[in-house]
Amino acid sequence: MDCNARSLLFILPLLLLLSRFPSAFPIIYPPNEVNLLDSKASQGELGWISYPSHGWEEISGVDEHYTPIRTFQVCNVMEYSQNNWLRTNWIARQSAQKVYVELKFTLRDCNSIPLVLGTCKETFNLLYQETDENQGGHFREHLFSKIDTIAADESFTQTDLGDRILKLNTEVREVGPLTKKGFYLAFQDVGACVALVSVRVYFKKCPNTVRNLASFPDTVPMDSQSLVEVKGSCVNHSKEEEPPRMYCSTEGEWLVPIGKCLCNPGYEERSNTCQMCRAGFYKSAVGNAECPKCPPHSFSHHEGSLHCGCEKNYFRAEDDPPSMACTRPPSPPRNVISSINETSVILDWSWPEDAGGRKDITFTVVCKRCRVVGADGSSNGGALRCEPCRNNVRFLPRAAGLQNTTVMVCDLLAHTNYTFEIEAQNGVSVMAPKMRQYAAVTITTNQAAPSPVTVIRKERTSRNSVSLSWQEPERPNGIILDYEIKYYEKEEQETSYTILRARGCNVTLNGLKSNTAYLLQIRARTAAGYGASSPSFQFETSPDSAFSISSENSQVVLIAISSAVAIILLTVLLYVLIGRICCRSKSKHPDEKRLHFGNGHLRLPGIRTYVDPHTYEDPSQAVHEFAKELDASCIAIDKVVGAGEFGEVCSGRLRLPSKKEICVAIKTLKGGYTDKQRRDFLAEASIMGQFDHPNIIRLEGVVTRSKPVMIVTEYMENGSLDSFLRKNDAQFTGIQLVGMLRGIASGMKYLSDMGYVHRDLAARNILVNSNLVCKVSDFGLSRVLEDDPEAAYTTRGGKIPIRWTAPEAIAYRKFTSASDAWSYGIVLWEVMSYGERPYWEMSNQDVIKAVDEGYRLPPPMDCPATLYQLMLDCWQKERNNRPKFEQIVSILDKLIRNPGSLKITANTTSRPANLLLERSSSEVPMGDWMDGMRTLPCKEAFSGVSYSSCDTLAKTSTEDLKKVGVTIVGPPKKIVSSLKSVDTKNDPVPV
Ligand code: AMP
Repeated sequence: MDCNARSLLFILPLLLLLSRFPSAFPIIYPPNEVNLLDSKASQGELGWISYPSHGWEEISGVDEHYTPIRTFQVCNVMEYSQNNWLRTNWIARQSAQKVYVELKFTLRDCNSIPLVLGTCKETFNLLYQETDENQGGHFREHLFSKIDTIAADESFTQTDLGDRILKLNTEVREVGPLTKKGFYLAFQDVGACVALVSVRVYFKKCPNTVRNLASFPDTVPMDSQSLVEVKGSCVNHSKEEEPPRMYCSTEGEWLVPIGKCLCNPGYEERSNTCQMCRAGFYKSAVGNAECPKCPPHSFSHHEGSLHCGCEKNYFRAEDDPPSMACTRPPSPPRNVISSINETSVILDWSWPEDAGGRKDITFTVVCKRCRVVGADGSSNGGALRCEPCRNNVRFLPRAAGLQNTTVMVCDLLAHTNYTFEIEAQNGVSVMAPKMRQYAAVTITTNQAAPSPVTVIRKERTSRNSVSLSWQEPERPNGIILDYEIKYYEKEEQETSYTILRARGCNVTLNGLKSNTAYLLQIRARTAAGYGASSPSFQFETSPDSAFSISSENSQVVLIAISSAVAIILLTVLLYVLIGRICCRSKSKHPDEKRLHFGNGHLRLPGIRTYVDPHTYEDPSQAVHEFAKELDASCIAIDKVVGAGEFGEVCSGRLRLPSKKEICVAIKTLKGGYTDKQRRDFLAEASIMGQFDHPNIIRLEGVVTRSKPVMIVTEYMENGSLDSFLRKNDAQFTGIQLVGMLRGIASGMKYLSDMGYVHRDLAARNILVNSNLVCKVSDFGLSRVLEDDPEAAYTTRGGKIPIRWTAPEAIAYRKFTSASDAWSYGIVLWEVMSYGERPYWEMSNQDVIKAVDEGYRLPPPMDCPATLYQLMLDCWQKERNNRPKFEQIVSILDKLIRNPGSLKITANTTSRPANLLLERSSSEVPMGDWMDGMRTLPCKEAFSGVSYSSCDTLAKTSTEDLKKVGVTIVGPPKKIVSSLKSVDTKNDPVPV
């Protein structure tokens, strides 16, 4: 068969084949395959060697895309002994150790060719030869090694339409391991009809890739079965978390990724790379999370931000995570409420309105002591000067870092103004000092007695004496004036005791029984009175020393005893003599004053009692005994502050040599006085000079040797109590009022202990200083009758302040401490009604009558029930049933200690039966003030009357009331105004 016949025999099916190629266009090879040879890629002649020349033939064709391709074919099926070789060009091995040969070919089925039986073959051989260099046209068959015999799967394929078409076979063979630089492939035909459509030689590699942000390079696998371990390197802007590794398999696949890289702060992962965060976003830590948006009140203007900056006036605390919103200091606490209890105060407040966006709020309380200081440094007028509180002020639980909205502040000074600044703080407060705000509350502590002495030590003991020392109370609450030492024999159970006073913290008790157990209690005294007693302290005196006198020295002992007795007698004599002299020139401030009491009453003479200056033959002698003569040049008068019976009362200053200047009140005796007037004027100083008590007005001295004659006393800034209360209506807390009352009672107790009956105890005769300390004053004698404008002549001729005086004193001038107690009850009423006039405008006669018939003043509005009960007790008709001043002091002390008890008001509790507002058939006149009664708590006020509502009462005429036997004594003013002040009288609630 000639050449053309061969072609005809073959070409037809080839075209058919080409038109049916299923290959895709463009041809994309798997990324892990690297071609070393691709016959389809060459559009010109391939230049392969064909041997012999009539064997394989290179033919041009087109593929299904009409892209020209080069093919080789051979079809010498009619002839025997065919050995046709086709050898490729030299193929460089590159880095491959193993290559793949992919053949696409068609192979005709011998049966489909007529007359070829016996010669026709249906396979061909694939061979290769390794060389280090291109050998050009040099070709040796025997140098080739066979790779495989290649056969077609099926030579023809039946189509759906029943056509027989040539099928394109694809066979792939592996070649390797290769060691030389290159190789040739050869196709040996032994008599088949083959068309070699394409030859592709490739090797496999693991292509470069990025996994877990680590990039891995192209990697050619080993020929053997083993995997190649490849280390990855982190992509830009990332960092290794765990060394990244992967294995490259022989198939060119990446296996088992291990480890990873993470994007740096400011970068986030986007398509296998680390990209900068966009503006408005941030990333503060290494990681592959997305960049979060800036939290509230923060911003980032640039790309790649590590964190967002805070807006103006917003901050981030050191420990705040960058994801947290920027915050600001909280607003101040709100609604600060203070409840004062003596020298401690409980402060309560509400959470701030704006927490600044944080939850870590704590509160800090700063304590300041504030005083109004005048330009001259005095406490008169001027600016408020504050200084930090003393270190020993205690805060419970603490002053700073409070998590709750309350704190208790203890150990403040009594009667002192304090300002507390309460600040809410959060984690950013320190960063914004200018934005910090606090709520402030100003309080005035109450008067408080000192805390008890707790530590007592025995220093020395003998048979008849013991020396003791003790420590000052932990909370003196003022300056300790002295200590009271009370002791008694243990056996006697306090039925008889002795009291000593000492200024310092030690005392020696003499005159004790030997070998006896004693119990002792100490209490400190300040301007606020006595504190609680110490716990009982027991001590024993030493026993009598038992000694026997031997016969040989009995004489010596006898002489010794006789001389001792003689010495003692002499000492006693001297003592009595000196005692007499001392009594005459009594020292006003003895360091120790000894009082002896039996069954609680005065027992032994020698106690300090009040001496009536009128008992002196020469009253001016009394003045000089009890009052210090002052040099007029030491006194500077400033201004007139009041008018006394004998002349003006001025304020001024007293500067004694080597002493600090003090403010004083100066009473002057106006010119043209009689001897009697001078005596009476100075009598007050003689009386006052005998007293030494924080609640009794202190006498500084008198000027009698020059004119004008003057009495100089301590200065009481707030003047008399009645006008002070009227000026400050409803301004004080219950505790403050009780504090004042306690002072008055304490002064009166002192006077009654001294045996002095005041006779004119009334709010107008109490003076108040700048610390609200009340002191009893006005110690005239005849003055009680002459001086007081309230005093009226009684039927028996005396002049008496009727409204303040007990019935027995009015009736038969029985003035006693018990009648002073009655007056104290009236003072109590005056204080609680802020200076209201007792019995209002009732006439003295009506008052005497009403009181005699059992009527009593009603409770002032909002008066605590306990205090009203105390008033009623003071107004007991039977004077022995009235409380002693000591009892009054202790009742008030209890109230001060338990201020809660003041909350129950007399207006809301059932009233006793002997009020002025009571059923009666008496003629006590009824005021014409019924119109003002609309708001009275009438049901309570009219106990026993069947009127149940105020409206009903207001509509009821005076006559109607009289019909049911109701008599009302008392004007409307106070009751109505009291009702108005119900709210303001409660403890103030500072905001
Ligand atoms: P007397 O003569 O004591 O009633 O005093 C008359 C007025 O002088 C009193 O009502 C007070 O206003 C004033 N006064 C008297 N003593 C003092 C004092 N020690 N300090 C301040 N004011 C006083």
